[in-house]
Amino acid sequence: MTLEELLAQIRARRICLTYSRSGQLTTWPGQRVPRAIRAALRSHSHELQQMIARGDIAVCENFDLHRQYWTFRGQQRYVCAVCERWYAA
Ligand SMILES: [Zn+2]
Repeated sequence: MTLEELLAQIRARRICLTYSRSGQLTTWPGQRVPRAIRAALRSHSHELQQMIARGDIAVCENFDLHRQYWTFRGQQRYVCAVCERWYAA
């Protein structure tokens, strides 16, 4: 699965990415995620962590609630101000 395909799945299935206590990229507890997507999350975890670090809207934790806080930062970059602040803390 390519990164683009994975991001489309994340969006379609409303998958919430977060970090476990040990600092590993994971999905929100209790969320059902197919095995193929879990494998793709592992193989693309480096790119995903970079996207999370810059608050990229493609990995926004809550597309419905956060959409109003998405801001354009130039060069086709959209950032979620809520996720950005959350992960910068
Ligand atoms: Zn967000």
